[in-house]
Amino acid sequence: MASAAVTAPTTPVVEIPTISLRQTLPWLAFFGLVALIAIYFVGAEQGATSLISGAGVHEWVHDGRHLLGFPCH
Ligand SMILES: [Zn+2]
Repeated sequence: MASAAVTAPTTPVVEIPTISLRQTLPWLAFFGLVALIAIYFVGAEQGATSLISGAGVHEWVHDGRHLLGFPCH
């Protein structure tokens, strides 16, 4: 009569990848630029500093202006 050997379950080895600051720097620069553009359109795309004529951009980001506390009306 053969008996089955009972083995303890093994835990999987999880390796956490390391990402250096040099690898993340282009992404940080890209998202920083996107954030600056978004803040410009939300906060300053109006009146004398307006790049796009008309009130379309202002109306598009109007709720964001109020949410972030920019003066509006
Ligand atoms: Zn408003």
